[in-house]
Amino acid sequence: MTSPHVLIAGAGPVGLVSALTLARAGIRVTVFERATVLTEDLRASTFHPPTLDLLARFGVTGELVAQGLVARYTQQRDRREGLIAEFDMSLLEGETQHPFRLQCEQWKLTRMLLAQLEAMPHVALRFGAVVESVAQDAAGVDLTVRQDGTVTTHRGDYLIGADGAWSAVRQSLGIEFEGFTYPERFLVVSTDFEFADHFPHLSYVNYVSDPQEWCVLLRVPTLWRVLFPTSPDETDEEVLTDASIEARLQGLLPREVPYDITHRTLYKVHQRVAREFRRGRVVLAGDAAHINNPLGGMGMNGGVQDAFNLSDKLVAILNDGADAALLDRYERQRRSVAIEYINANTQRNKKTIEERDPAKRQAVYDELRAIAADPVRQKQYLRKTSMIDALQRSEEIA
Ligand SMILES: Cc1cc2nc3c(=O)[nH]c(=O)nc-3n(C[C@H](O)[C@H](O)[C@H](O)COP(=O)(O)OP(=O)(O)OC[C@H]3O[C@@H](n4cnc5c(N)ncnc54)[C@H](O)[C@@H]3O)c2cc1C
Repeated sequence: MTSPHVLIAGAGPVGLVSALTLARAGIRVTVFERATVLTEDLRASTFHPPTLDLLARFGVTGELVAQGLVARYTQQRDRREGLIAEFDMSLLEGETQHPFRLQCEQWKLTRMLLAQLEAMPHVALRFGAVVESVAQDAAGVDLTVRQDGTVTTHRGDYLIGADGAWSAVRQSLGIEFEGFTYPERFLVVSTDFEFADHFPHLSYVNYVSDPQEWCVLLRVPTLWRVLFPTSPDETDEEVLTDASIEARLQGLLPREVPYDITHRTLYKVHQRVAREFRRGRVVLAGDAAHINNPLGGMGMNGGVQDAFNLSDKLVAILNDGADAALLDRYERQRRSVAIEYINANTQRNKKTIEERDPAKRQAVYDELRAIAADPVRQKQYLRKTSMIDALQRSEEIA
């Protein structure tokens, strides 16, 4: 008898949360990551309360809070009218150990998880290892990996496909990624310019509606990040020029001196959910299983919640002899939440922020103001936007 061994494709937040949960239960884990070092790009910057509650298990939450910014308030704004409604996350006290949004870059989490994994003798971390294909039989999974020009095959009891939106694991299994891609791409620019000195009462998380060009203003510890939609008629090169970025920022807040741009990235944005999350001994999680627009900050949070759900079930199967049918429950729970909650809410958020019809826009604002004015409704709203409802819904699915 050899000890159980789980293979994981991808060392993003989802792969590493899964790896650490399994490794802490004494299960042998091998992680295969295409990049040669941990990716440190500016993607997720918001941790929601239930994700922080789950991560507390690893003892990393205090350090994340120390390296991030505690956002007690979030705001809905209008580019011309200013503040429409402010929501106070401290109303969630008693519902979570962390009644706030944490503004902190996702690479700070992966760096902390990696440090713990590196100290564990039964964990193998293979960087520069590209997963190519998957095969399985009744007893295990064979993963084909290319590293330094050499192709090798690795055997494990189970495989977690946490290899992101273009998942080689999902593609190798031929699982359809159902949904659509938005025609516009999203531009994210970062600047050390202090917007809070110019927009009165700005919070760290601001959704700014506008019929012509909405945007999101997000604070991370050292920078402001501004997210804009772009027109399908502009080429990538045109969107990314200094002049075009400067024009967008000047449109938001005119100033005589040009903005200092620290990062610029252009993303394609999709709403897609894999038709299956589990096939036999292979299970998909995170972006490999579902992707959505970033309005609401639900991609990484949803993925980390997948990772805890899935890896706890694998521990029960491998260490405690639970039935492998538990993985079907994972699919029922997490696929439902991806469709009914994450994709539905992020699509609704986009519709709200870009509403062009003046009457409909004002009706949305009236509704947001009414929610903010009523503590009971505001708490219900915050439970939804902070993903507390999503996690609870997932747990309720049998
Ligand atoms: C602009 C933007 C802003 C965002 N903001 C937020 C936010 O505020 N909050 C939030 O919750 N989410 C946000 N997201 C989404 C979030 O970044 C993702 O949902 C999250 O990174 C998913 O984690 P993951 O581990 O599933 O995938 P990834 O982070 O993509 O990690 C997958 C890993 O697999 C590796 N890999 C890929 N292919 C292979 C292969 N063949 N072999 C081996 N390794 C492979 C990749 O190199 C990567 O390291 C944002 C996304 C964008 C684009």
